[in-house]
Amino acid sequence: MASYPRLFTPLDFGFLTLSNRIIMGSMHTRLEHEPQGAARLGAFYAERARGGVGLIITGGISPDRPGQIEPGGGILDSEEQLPFHRQIVDEVHKAGGKICMQILHAGRYARGDDLVGASDIPSRINKRKVHALTDAEVEATLDAFARCAELAKSAGYDGVEIMGSEGYIVTQFTSLRTNNRTDRWGGSLENRLRFPVEIVRRTRERVGKDYLIVFRLSALDLIEDGFTHEETVIQARALEKAGVNVLDTGIGWHEALVPTIAYMVPRATWAFAVKRIREAVGIPVVATNRINTPELAEQLLADGVADLVSLARPLLADAYFAAKAKEDRADEINTCIACNQGCLDFMFRDKVATCMVNPRACHETEFPAGPAPRTRRVAVVGAGAAGLACAVTAYERGHQVMVFESGTQIGGQLNLAKAIPGKEFAETLRYFGARIAHSTIELKLGTTPKAADLVKDFDEIVIATGVKPRIPEVEGIDHPMVLRYDDVLSGKKVPGQRVAIMGAGGIGFDVAVYLSQPGGTPEVGEFLDDWGIDRTGKSTGGLAKPAMEPSARKITLLQRKPTSAGRTLGLTTGWAIKAELAKRGVSILTGVQYERIDDRGLHYSQDGKPALLEVDNVVVCAGQESVRSLHDELTSLRAPVHVIGGAERAGELDALRAIDQGMRTALAL
Ligand code: NAP
Repeated sequence: MASYPRLFTPLDFGFLTLSNRIIMGSMHTRLEHEPQGAARLGAFYAERARGGVGLIITGGISPDRPGQIEPGGGILDSEEQLPFHRQIVDEVHKAGGKICMQILHAGRYARGDDLVGASDIPSRINKRKVHALTDAEVEATLDAFARCAELAKSAGYDGVEIMGSEGYIVTQFTSLRTNNRTDRWGGSLENRLRFPVEIVRRTRERVGKDYLIVFRLSALDLIEDGFTHEETVIQARALEKAGVNVLDTGIGWHEALVPTIAYMVPRATWAFAVKRIREAVGIPVVATNRINTPELAEQLLADGVADLVSLARPLLADAYFAAKAKEDRADEINTCIACNQGCLDFMFRDKVATCMVNPRACHETEFPAGPAPRTRRVAVVGAGAAGLACAVTAYERGHQVMVFESGTQIGGQLNLAKAIPGKEFAETLRYFGARIAHSTIELKLGTTPKAADLVKDFDEIVIATGVKPRIPEVEGIDHPMVLRYDDVLSGKKVPGQRVAIMGAGGIGFDVAVYLSQPGGTPEVGEFLDDWGIDRTGKSTGGLAKPAMEPSARKITLLQRKPTSAGRTLGLTTGWAIKAELAKRGVSILTGVQYERIDDRGLHYSQDGKPALLEVDNVVVCAGQESVRSLHDELTSLRAPVHVIGGAERAGELDALRAIDQGMRTALAL
């Protein structure tokens, strides 16, 4: 607390006091689609309440059927749904927390068939036909918002947040891009703002004056014909006048062509847009997006950017973020690295959200807490992602744990991944390092144990020996110009100016980013310039001309499959990686056959035609093979052995699976 005085200053609204300035931002989890959905949501939010967050904002709940984000999505339009919501609220209140329900009408972003919007203009991310609401339907929608808020109040929620950003229905009314109406809901700015202002006015009328209304407004639209800063300020002031207590902020519509929350976005990139809203209004303002440490959150408050900070994914990664910060244990926070792999990427594939670095998130009721029934002596061989997750979880369950690592540091493949611009795996390693340091786990670096000793000294042996790069059988593969990706990413080898990357999987793309961006993670200003974000506030949608330039290195990514490259990249990050590499001039060749490598470069054929890539280096990114000789030896000795992570399956190696498997293995010991 001493380190973050502003963050832990209560905020008193007269009728409601928040114990600190940390809000858990709204996130969809898809738990409402699961059996026992309310119980699971209750457990998920209650754990965050116990973790000390000042206010929780739920995932979006629609005020009516057309507004549902998808069929079966969260809705509150009748008293029959109140028991579901009361169960969630009660759990949070029992845990000492405060919870606000977000009201979200998806408009033309909904995934159902009957889309509605301000006008019949489809979006580029959902091409289905849109029905333009009639005047009577607009009136009904506004009333549905107010009624939904009233129902939320009777369910016991401490307030509501009206979702007015990100390209959902509110922004569809306020923006000329999606509103070409000529009635009282379209045309002039005043007419277009009538929709959000009326929502707030009618909501306030229904819930009374002593009830929290948060409005999430779009601080930057990042789409063509979006608001200028001046228009954003006019909206903010109109909302304040209509009775909003807090202005939360959102950045970019979902159809924006600029990444806004993924790992390549530097921390607190959007502070400049939030600060100028705060300067224009008299009510508290919330900063959002890529705020993942208490230091940064405190700094934003100190700099006058905002009065509160909203952390969404960081509270998936660590439910106890606030409590750890308050107790000055920030080194023990499991930091969100904005990878999106377990949260957004899962959700868009219709899976329950979770978190790559914390697979317990949204699975609270499945992961038992407390000690194991008996204490075991556990050896974990390999301190990569899988081994680390297993070791710390086993220790927490009361087992005696020894970790053997042949290298000189913990982390395995994460030590390579942390070299990629924007990838914050160093935080994950700091977290695991701190957990080991605060435990009695014995860590033996530079040590490869013998099978016989493991059998003699331990009750359970977990093999997490990881992977080694696959070296394809191509003529000339042992030519000195051929480099392995691990040697490149560890900095041991530096490729020349002309590079062929053999293999266009996750690592091939990572290596392309690494080699085309030698300056490493960009600073905020550089990122904004590269992606074409206007900071003057004058341009519509906050867009300017992107300044990203082709890389000085000439890079070609190759794969044998004829399909488009990058299909295995994350759904919500892959498009940005590909857009960035295209702007940096990286070429991609698919459907190639590798012929040979010699002094001239990489010879290949495509559609049966021979070709030559004249390069200084070929970097091999052709996947991995499991390292499991120790496992095989132990199995032959009939030892009690478990194999996890890449050592178990190299083909599907990724940190999410590795950490999840490590934890689950430890819980079963
Ligand atoms: P990967 O995604 O399986 O890609 C391996 C690449 O090597 C493919 O492009 C494959 O394409 C090629 N290849 C396979 N066998 C080959 C051979 N014998 N000769 C030549 N080329 C061969 O593996 P990875 O890139 O090593 O990534 C490992 C894991 O980490 C994956 O699960 C990946 O999803 C994950 N990861 C993800 C990200 C991300 O999402 N940003 C980043 C890094 C890693 P062809 O067979 O068509 O040539």
